[in-house]
Amino acid sequence: MNVAVQTMDAIREGRNSFSKKDIHLKTGIPWGTVCRAVDDLTAKGFIFARKEEPAGRGRPMIPLCIDSEAACFMGIDVGASRAKLLVCDLSLKSLGQDCVSTPRYRDGKLFFDWLSKLFDDAVEKFKIDKRKLRGLGLSVSGNVDAEKGVIVSGGNFGMKWGANLPVEKLAERCGVDVCALTSISAAAYGEYQFGLKAGCDDLLTVNLGVGIGSGVVSGGRLLISRPDRRIGYIGHILMPDNPRVCVCGFKGCLESYSGGSALAAIASEKRLGVSSASDLDALAKAGDAAAKEMLLKAASYNAVGIASMIQIYSPAEIVFSGGQCRKDGFLYSHTLKTLKELLPEERRRSFSVSLSSLGEYQSALGALRLAYEKFL
Ligand SMILES: [Zn+2]
Repeated sequence: MNVAVQTMDAIREGRNSFSKKDIHLKTGIPWGTVCRAVDDLTAKGFIFARKEEPAGRGRPMIPLCIDSEAACFMGIDVGASRAKLLVCDLSLKSLGQDCVSTPRYRDGKLFFDWLSKLFDDAVEKFKIDKRKLRGLGLSVSGNVDAEKGVIVSGGNFGMKWGANLPVEKLAERCGVDVCALTSISAAAYGEYQFGLKAGCDDLLTVNLGVGIGSGVVSGGRLLISRPDRRIGYIGHILMPDNPRVCVCGFKGCLESYSGGSALAAIASEKRLGVSSASDLDALAKAGDAAAKEMLLKAASYNAVGIASMIQIYSPAEIVFSGGQCRKDGFLYSHTLKTLKELLPEERRRSFSVSLSSLGEYQSALGALRLAYEKFL
């Protein structure tokens, strides 16, 4: 993380009462570097020194404040069924949030038409001064080449592999810098920055929704998934006894059975009388044998994927999110139970588990934070 970001974070965490010395002590950044960063951020108008009457003798401590209105940022998460948007000011305080349905993908032009309209509508709705909007972080449920800024696919909303949409085109239309990454990576960063377990340097996120995936912060670094170097792609781990074909085109992927839409489809094929994964969960909880059988299988698949992540990355915290993670849910509780049974004894107590406090805005927040960091 660069010095400007660390300095801004320290001032924000110090609730606008930190002096340069406090920043130096808190961050461990050398004194001269802190002074240069503060001068630079002041010159840009992002922070200012609060004037206070000197108290007592000695050199006065000058508290530094963020000028919240100097800039703002937007985060958009294009999920499998819903898109979440939020806007924050320079203090990362929310200025508004919104949630709309994700349309089925038809072509790149229509996709960017839809996204730029979403952007324009939010600018109007939340009365954003567009000149102050300094970055858009876009997270997409699918494959994204974050380094090249290319959206490669989004199977769960119909964008097939090889769509290869350069986000530069969206940047031109919106008149703002755009950075993009996968929803899974953005979710991990959202939790690392804003969640209940924020600051935990070895953090794993697991999303059990329409798609299934896992994000990783390891040693304090976000591991960003790329199409040719995937991280946490557990939804597409091969389950040898699963004959179902996945949205990615392969047969036997974990999420082609355990994903929310897949469960609803299988329940319908089996004529269980439910049309959604949440209704199926309620049916299993009520004791229906066929529903229980289905969800126990889904739980065992989930557990295999999550156990693999635990074995590879040794997280201290695992944060769950997604439509299928209900505290008292059948699938969620059995996923956790099976996970503990699968893991070797010494691993079972090496991490703790919680549900996300950020709700469905987790990935939009992570993407927004990256746009903020890129700008600074
Ligand atoms: Zn797949």
